[in-house]
Amino acid sequence: MVSCDVVVVGGGCIGTSVAYHLAEAGCTDVVLLEANTLGSGSTSKAAGGIRMQHGDSLNTQLAHRSLAEFTRFEELTGSEIFFHQVGYLFLLDSQLDLDLFRAAARMQRSFGIPVELLSPQAALEVVPQLDIDGLVGATFCPLDGYATPESVVQGYASAARRRGVQIRQGEQVTRVVTNHGRVIGVDVGDEHISTPAVVCAAGVASGAVAATAGVELPVSAVRRRIFFSKQAGGVSDGIPLTVDFATGFYFHREGPGLVFGGREFEPEDLMEPAVRRLPALGDVPISSYWHGDYDMSPDHNGIVGEAHQLAGFYYATGFSGHGFQLSPAVGEHVAELVTGRMPTIDLAPLRAERFAADGTRRVERIVI
Ligand SMILES: Cc1cc2nc3c(=O)[nH]c(=O)nc-3n(C[C@H](O)[C@H](O)[C@H](O)COP(=O)(O)OP(=O)(O)OC[C@H]3O[C@@H](n4cnc5c(N)ncnc54)[C@H](O)[C@@H]3O)c2cc1C
Repeated sequence: MVSCDVVVVGGGCIGTSVAYHLAEAGCTDVVLLEANTLGSGSTSKAAGGIRMQHGDSLNTQLAHRSLAEFTRFEELTGSEIFFHQVGYLFLLDSQLDLDLFRAAARMQRSFGIPVELLSPQAALEVVPQLDIDGLVGATFCPLDGYATPESVVQGYASAARRRGVQIRQGEQVTRVVTNHGRVIGVDVGDEHISTPAVVCAAGVASGAVAATAGVELPVSAVRRRIFFSKQAGGVSDGIPLTVDFATGFYFHREGPGLVFGGREFEPEDLMEPAVRRLPALGDVPISSYWHGDYDMSPDHNGIVGEAHQLAGFYYATGFSGHGFQLSPAVGEHVAELVTGRMPTIDLAPLRAERFAADGTRRVERIVI
């Protein structure tokens, strides 16, 4: 019978980061099982945005720590991730949102992150193609940007493999097997792999995987679409990833063209707020589009920890649209939990128990 020290379920940015950080910590007897192909879940559908501008201080700390790894990614793993560190520009059209972002900027600066509050006129100087009608302010952080999620997955996976981790694709975990309150293995079809530790990083399927072990992880799928135009409509290269916070419309340059998306799924619903804020978009054709699922949690924050009722069952999921950018620090954290090291960032408030009747939820308000 096959046995190993740790099984990681899911080969997206979270699972591969966990596998890499376990191997870095000297824990190399690890099997990563991916039902489909590496990165084929939400990760390959993501816009690749990396921002320090979160509302929750834990997300800001995780993003800041992740940034240190993203900027050294090639040196650490040998893989290029095409990180365009052009900043994020958030456009704000109400006093309520301005107050939210002003308070968040104060918190972000306390971690040494250089976030600036801008007037609408100053935002226009950053992206001259904007229509700033109705804006009351903006924020800008030059540390933010975007990278290629699939490259991050491949980079982590190959670095983990070189350190001895086994990565098996096309292998779906059908059951997490337990005995007397402990994990003892997983079933993969007819095969059983014996292990004392399982990390559930199955994205939107995390709830279903956890349920086979009697653990409740409240993760739901919310479908989002992204559009690409081969034309940039005069929007210059090097502009920040720009987000119209009220509507969720965002865009960034991609090669010769533009990537854009928002909270609206149907193009006709998205184009109205999009063209209002970026009139040039009305003149460029949509060349292609794709969709994927946000792995949503009830309070829009990640769910990370070890199940209190089941020893050896770890989980990292529910990142609600910001899992890619947090994946380096989340992977490091889970590896610390599994190997019994002191966590670099205390993520106890993100445990699943916060959703129990007597738990304390932790709401992330800056969700795109
Ligand atoms: C349109 C869109 C845009 C986004 N933009 C951004 C962004 O700009 N920045 C950002 O930070 N985040 C963004 N996100 C969110 C981000 O993509 C996710 O939070 C992140 O990819 C989650 O990674 P994951 O590894 O947890 O999940 P996934 O990438 O979904 O990986 C989970 C993997 O588990 C596998 N799996 C499932 N069940 C099993 C099983 N039983 N056995 C074995 N394997 C299994 C799946 O096949 C999958 O490959 C976006 C998401 C979408 C949909």
